[in-house]
Amino acid sequence: QSNTPTLENFWMPFTANRQFKAAPRLLASASGMYYTDVDGNTVLDGTAGLWCVNAGHGRKRIADAVERQLRTLDFAPTFQMGHPIAFDFAEKLGRIAPGGAAAELDRVFFTGSGSESVDTALKIAIAYQRAIGQGTRSRIIGREKGYHGVGFGGISVGGLVNNRRVFPQIPADHMRHTLDIERNAFSKGLPAHGLELAEDLERLVQLHGPETIAAVIVEPMSGSAGVILPPKGYLERIRAISQKYGILLIFDEVITGFGRLGTPFATDYFGVVPDLVTTAKGLTNGAIPMGAVFASRKVYDGLMNGPENAIELFHGYTYSGHPVASAAGIATLEIYAEENLLTRAAGLAETWQEALHSLKGHPHVVDVRNLGLVGAIELSPRDGAPGTRAYDVFVDCFKKGLLIRVTGDVIALSPPLIIEKEQIETIVSMIGDALKRVA
Ligand code: PMP
Repeated sequence: QSNTPTLENFWMPFTANRQFKAAPRLLASASGMYYTDVDGNTVLDGTAGLWCVNAGHGRKRIADAVERQLRTLDFAPTFQMGHPIAFDFAEKLGRIAPGGAAAELDRVFFTGSGSESVDTALKIAIAYQRAIGQGTRSRIIGREKGYHGVGFGGISVGGLVNNRRVFPQIPADHMRHTLDIERNAFSKGLPAHGLELAEDLERLVQLHGPETIAAVIVEPMSGSAGVILPPKGYLERIRAISQKYGILLIFDEVITGFGRLGTPFATDYFGVVPDLVTTAKGLTNGAIPMGAVFASRKVYDGLMNGPENAIELFHGYTYSGHPVASAAGIATLEIYAEENLLTRAAGLAETWQEALHSLKGHPHVVDVRNLGLVGAIELSPRDGAPGTRAYDVFVDCFKKGLLIRVTGDVIALSPPLIIEKEQIETIVSMIGDALKRVA
């Protein structure tokens, strides 16, 4: 007899359990690299929860910090009064801010999630342009296949058609440029071709007029679209074009932040410095919902110099800088520092790459992509129906004790950064076995 409760009242259309048909399986507990489901089966976590549990599950230090904070100060209205712990967290984040000290991206705005971080960054960008006398700049350029959460802001600039389909009117005024790199053609590392796609940004800017555009937002490495890697030199070009036209550049690092690529941020990995960086997920190791936007001092100063400007950016959440989330975040940063987790992926990246690329010979595998501790195994769809085969692999893997993520025809992998080499081998051999079983 299963311990699975009914799912009738839980409303979230995309939860995979709805499609687990006969046998939904639910996760009950977690420790380190493993989940345990409600029936006591162990499941290796190949996705760090949802790209967020970078330090592994069940970290006592985070649990203790959360409990202590809950008992000391459970909530404080940041709108009216500060509390030291949020200031402390912001200061600590400032010390590891994207791009290092020289980038001056160390002004931190706290939010409650990745979607809120995106909304916040978009609003900051438009408000900043206005504050410096560029009030006509109110539009944002996103990118085809970009994913920036599911808030109104995020879907406005996002490029995943499914996320916008029933909201065609939201808002008409933003544009998307293309990044149509679907396949990496089995190359290892960043694609050498496709740099010219950056020029599409310049075309759009000229078409609509730079004086109408506040910012461009991109994921430095796109995650939810199926792990699409930027061509060599692409981000540099995007930076140069945005700078040339007085357009702010926003990196959405909700996935790539906090060590995923083997550097603290993708900003560090690529050596390209944007004006704003959105984060969430690994910020608190997924333990407590929280996000943060890093802003450059230039943006901060431009926006905040003078009381009217501050008032124009009337923005902030009930849970901005929540004390319990801040406590979780500080404990998370301590773990990252003590265990060198923000750079650990760099030491494993080659092993990871070789292991993933060993799957190339399988007839269903059409591409393998990797960067840091991110992986993508793209499968051919069965009978041309997108996602069919990948979804079967997902179900098969879960039954055998491995959690992976499927987006379209792509198996996306992002294990906790504490992963050991043997566990890398296990993940790849379990996927290989599943591929053999799935027709
Ligand atoms: N931006 C990116 C790049 C993301 O990958 C996600 C979530 N996967 C978000 C924003 C939204 O984050 P959240 O789900 O916490 O709102």
